[in-house]
Amino acid sequence: MFTTRFLDLPPLLSAAGTVHLPGSKSISNRVLLLAGLSAGTTVIHDLLASDDTRVMLDALRGLGCDVQPRGETLHVTGLGGRLKTHDAKLFLGNAGTAMRPLTAALAVLAATQSGRFDLSGVPRMHERPIGDLVEALRQLGCGIDYLGNDGFPPLRLLPGTARLNTDKAIRVRGDVSSQFLTALLLALPLAAEQQAITIEVEGELISKPYVEITLNLLARFGIEVVREGWQRFTIARGSAYRSPGDIHVEGDASSASYFIALGAIAATETPIRIVGVGSDSIQGDIRFVEAARAMGAQVSSGPGWLEVQRGKFPLKAITLDCNHIPDAAMTLAVMALYAIGTTRLDNIASWRVKETDRIAAMAAELRKLGATVVEGADFIEVTPPTQWRPAAIDTYDDHRIAMCFSLAAFNGLAAPANAAVPVRILDPQCVGKTFPDYFETLFARVSTTPQDIPIITVDGPTASGKGTLASAVAKSLGYHFLDSGAVYRATALAAMRASVRADDEQRLAQLAANLDLHFDADTICLGGQDVTETLRLEEVGALASKVSAWPLVRAALRTLQVSFHRVPGLVADGRDMGTVIFPGAQFKVFLTASAATRAERRYRQLISKGISANIDSLRAELEARDARDQTRSVSPLKPAVDAMLLDNSALSVEASVEAVLKAWEQRRPFKET
Ligand code: C5P
Repeated sequence: MFTTRFLDLPPLLSAAGTVHLPGSKSISNRVLLLAGLSAGTTVIHDLLASDDTRVMLDALRGLGCDVQPRGETLHVTGLGGRLKTHDAKLFLGNAGTAMRPLTAALAVLAATQSGRFDLSGVPRMHERPIGDLVEALRQLGCGIDYLGNDGFPPLRLLPGTARLNTDKAIRVRGDVSSQFLTALLLALPLAAEQQAITIEVEGELISKPYVEITLNLLARFGIEVVREGWQRFTIARGSAYRSPGDIHVEGDASSASYFIALGAIAATETPIRIVGVGSDSIQGDIRFVEAARAMGAQVSSGPGWLEVQRGKFPLKAITLDCNHIPDAAMTLAVMALYAIGTTRLDNIASWRVKETDRIAAMAAELRKLGATVVEGADFIEVTPPTQWRPAAIDTYDDHRIAMCFSLAAFNGLAAPANAAVPVRILDPQCVGKTFPDYFETLFARVSTTPQDIPIITVDGPTASGKGTLASAVAKSLGYHFLDSGAVYRATALAAMRASVRADDEQRLAQLAANLDLHFDADTICLGGQDVTETLRLEEVGALASKVSAWPLVRAALRTLQVSFHRVPGLVADGRDMGTVIFPGAQFKVFLTASAATRAERRYRQLISKGISANIDSLRAELEARDARDQTRSVSPLKPAVDAMLLDNSALSVEASVEAVLKAWEQRRPFKET
């Protein structure tokens, strides 16, 4: 997951490949709660691992449920309707799918079994309404106090009358959030041992498909609910949760919407294949497919899969009542940027009480890109930009804003044609709510012209600190990182192991061309073996400096280095990154420090690793190596003509990183950050 302050997406041009969706958030949290209330153990397959499921799992653990990860599955042993812990404080982040159902279930358990529970969340959670659910639970006789503002979390659930007032139908509003009804449906079987319970919905029920998911999952856990229209729901007397044993979580249909849109916009050659949801889905958001088709997407499907390809493009503007697909509909608002004409999404008032006020947020961010937007209490109208602007998109701690605006990076394909501009997504880690690897998944399936993928090069002499600087810059931008020195060091190590002499250019070049070298997050593997530490040895560096002087060796290592140049961008450090390997780099830094400073740094590094060293001989060795690098016939070490020169002899690492990031930012087209 990207945890950077922002993530810059270069202008993108096409997409292809297969996407395996993470599990559905709605199904995952319902299944977790039902497993937690059931007797016995439920084995959950394909559960979503995200912020929202983590808070639900923490809550279940806090209540005394046994939760065990086993391989790819999670084993949850539930309470069987009996409280194990009678007093707990639960933090539920920004997860409506945890807050609402846990409020209902724990209010019933607290009232009937003398419990006392405090439920709280992040500040935004404390602005999301829950009063209608609390009112419904109070009708039953549950004791609930507001600990902050009336009508909103945090809440305290109190002990109450042992017998709940289930004679009369419980009334609940259905027109603010369907989660209130879902919460009652999931929780009230706890109180239906002696008597059937009826729930009556006031007002027009919104987001009905989510209630269907609830009913479907209740049935799998042995609870039958009789439904009369969308107005009355009756839970039979004697209901008790029965674990189904094994249960599989479908892929998230709302998450699928970004890749369906991706296919519709950018899959020009082969379709995007989406695995995890398909024609047999129980999730309402699968009907996003119909909306995407109406806008021009070509979609085929089967059980558990979808394939999406560009059909009509530019897309067709639509007017659509989106009540049945409230979450996925946000993706339509971004697809509208690629349509001819104005797209209008109606009946989306619920957007205003989600992770953020989504109507206001979408309008503000779409406008930043240059779109014309009209917003109303329960609708939004989007007309594409005539001139796209590079924009820094605020994400409001809302995963869906971050994900759907990533699709704005395809603006180079939009009509009318204009310069392709990058898109900045602020706080990209908010996708952790439902799809922690969203950006990695997207980046691996898109392509663009190489000139549009930014490169920052950091060249300089040995021990100038360029590796530390470059990797820190890469980390804060979320870019790939190439330590080209490691490539030469690996060649040297391979030569040592194969007893190839430093003057045997042909054989060295052969070794270099066939290196079995892999870079993972923090480790480097050569021939399947972790060589991260070995590569840093002085003798390996010394041999690398000789080996790297051979033109054939340098040529053999070129393709490997260039392969690091991928979306969203690259920071590369070495000796010839800015001059030979990436001469077109957008930003070049040449880092220096005095020989004395560099020798001292290397000395301290070695001593801290427990390796004895002599500062004078280190300095002599550094200078010899610099001389070799500077005087060799191919790719000699020298600053690129357009490089920024930075002498960091008197600068801390943080100050150097700051200086480079600041200079980079000045070259970026974004105004706000
Ligand atoms: O930067 P590092 O000390 O890891 O590099 C090891 C050796 O590899 C250097 O002394 C230099 O001779 C060589 N090298 C190179 N070109 C690069 C990176 C490293 O010639 N781009």
